[in-house]
Amino acid sequence: MTDYLLRATAANHSVRIFVATTKQLVQKAADLHHTTPVASAALGRTLTAGCIMGAMLKGEKDLVTLHIKGEGPLRGVMVTADSQSHVKGYVYNPQAELPLNAVGKLDVGGAIGPGTLRIIRDVGMGDPYVGQIELVSGEIAEDLTYYFATSEQVPTAIALGVLVDRDYSIRQAGGIMIQLMPDATEETISMIEQKLQALSSVTSLFEEGHTPEEILKIILGDLDYSILERRDLSFQCNCSKERVEKALISLGRQELEDMIHEGKEIDLHCHFCNCHYPFTVDELESLYKAARS
Ligand SMILES: [Zn+2]
Repeated sequence: MTDYLLRATAANHSVRIFVATTKQLVQKAADLHHTTPVASAALGRTLTAGCIMGAMLKGEKDLVTLHIKGEGPLRGVMVTADSQSHVKGYVYNPQAELPLNAVGKLDVGGAIGPGTLRIIRDVGMGDPYVGQIELVSGEIAEDLTYYFATSEQVPTAIALGVLVDRDYSIRQAGGIMIQLMPDATEETISMIEQKLQALSSVTSLFEEGHTPEEILKIILGDLDYSILERRDLSFQCNCSKERVEKALISLGRQELEDMIHEGKEIDLHCHFCNCHYPFTVDELESLYKAARS
């Protein structure tokens, strides 16, 4: 099954819901970054949230970034999504390892530790919109729930899951987000709460073979709902040698001259996809000619 997301609405548009399956893109991220299981889980959960929040963007060129910084061994997670839900991201320390937590699960909260979550929405003009919270648990879904409640005043239920197999491959990954609009009735709210309480984890739903369509039906079955969109999801980085050249040129002649004087090849690294871009001294000299003094 390829990765995709469903966006749906229920009860006269008073409820909006997103269900995403993200196994392939989380696997790609784990392959690119050589992550340990707990790092795969932290990155995969955040990438899944990024896919969903990308689907919430209004403008075609809008971007959303989720930036988690923590005091735990993982130290942080960075994920950026565009409005087509192309996501890219990395963790600061992909080699972080921790014992399983008290309930036998990958200890994402412990790996992240106390810290902050920043959500940056870049809508193309003016300053980006930035919201920040102190982490509640570092488990990511809980932190995002708190973020939506406090920074955006939208009651939100979020489940994010990554199941890592014994061989460290990604067995299941996905997420569910449900938001209640101000006109949601008490009846609708309690109906959804009951459904969510009875629901097993998002990865167990996938493990049982349910599709996102079926998960929607399980949660919204008693309500009047409609699927507004089905979109494919993927991990994509937009870096290229050309973009890196432009960045180098923009440093200006003085900086480039210093690099040329070093007389050594330089190696630039894209954190998002772990790509390397080496530049020889000759190449730096031609960039120098293109740069302004
Ligand atoms: Zn890249």
